[in-house]
Amino acid sequence: MGSHQKVVIALGGNALQEPGAPATAEAQLEVVKKTAEIITDIKCIFGYELAIVHGNGPQIGRILLASELAAEVTPAMPLNVCTAMSQGYIGYHIQQGLSHALANRNRPLPVVTVITQVVVDPADPAFQNPTKPIGPFYSEEEAGKLAAERGFVLREDAGRGWRRVVPSPLPQRIVEIHSIKELWDSTIVIAAGGGGIPVIEKEDGTLEGVPAVIDKDLAAEKLAEEVGADILMILTEVEQVALNYKKANQQNLSRLTAAECEQYIREGHFAPGSMLPKIQAAQAFARLHPKKKAIITSLAKAVEALNGSAGTVITQQ
Ligand code: ADP
Ligand code: MG
Repeated sequence: MGSHQKVVIALGGNALQEPGAPATAEAQLEVVKKTAEIITDIKCIFGYELAIVHGNGPQIGRILLASELAAEVTPAMPLNVCTAMSQGYIGYHIQQGLSHALANRNRPLPVVTVITQVVVDPADPAFQNPTKPIGPFYSEEEAGKLAAERGFVLREDAGRGWRRVVPSPLPQRIVEIHSIKELWDSTIVIAAGGGGIPVIEKEDGTLEGVPAVIDKDLAAEKLAEEVGADILMILTEVEQVALNYKKANQQNLSRLTAAECEQYIREGHFAPGSMLPKIQAAQAFARLHPKKKAIITSLAKAVEALNGSAGTVITQQ
């Protein structure tokens, strides 16, 4: 097609892990191979220039757990370092799976992961109200100890035990954006994995990692905005966005305008922490320009959605 449209693809948890399957590296690699086939379909059919953002919830949970359990023999790793580790771990698998799938279809292309830092505002209200649960569950006693010794904030999680919660501030700026843009023409770039490593900018211009987690859909939107992408594609478990989700009167949506997104957000149709950030990201992206579109759909429907016959498409008007 000779199209040089730019697409940022945000991969949800199910693109990396079979729901309910063991969270092993071997199982992840198998799922990534299937995901890579779909991304390769997109590349081969439409010729788009692609970048990939991925989630990291279960992976960072494992890395944190391993780090905490090993604390007797080697000091625990800070959260920002764990996020960096998850970008390397997941990026490595996607690089391998995607390079292989592309080569198999005679479309060899370099695939590279950029360890990505994302600047957040230390005055972001999220820092006063940590909401994002991460890592393992603890007993009340362990929770008290972690709060006292490590300054963690822990909350009781629906009767399942105590869990660390961290702030989820908004992404302000992608530090490595110039390198990502340089690479873009020749390479499929994997960037801002897990929402990026949250950093604050100090007075002297240096960056410092902070214990927080940025939403990966909002980070993908920021990336799409900064590279001037035409399409922001958010791939998750559901084929379409719905009103009255999981109720008797559920209504799946093929199209949404930015204004409708706002209205339905106000009416409470989208669950915080799952569909809400996707709608916020889609709406922010669609608002930028009348020709830009965001798509929310499943991995399996990705190609159909790009053809306009599946998924939910979000546009400015
Ligand atoms: P991901 O790992 O892809 O980010 P999430 O679980 O965070 O996935 O978010 C996607 C999930 O949001 C869907 O699988 C669905 O269960 C849930 N969801 C909540 N509200 C809605 C809605 N209004 N329409 C569709 N799905 C919704
Ligand atoms: Mg999510």
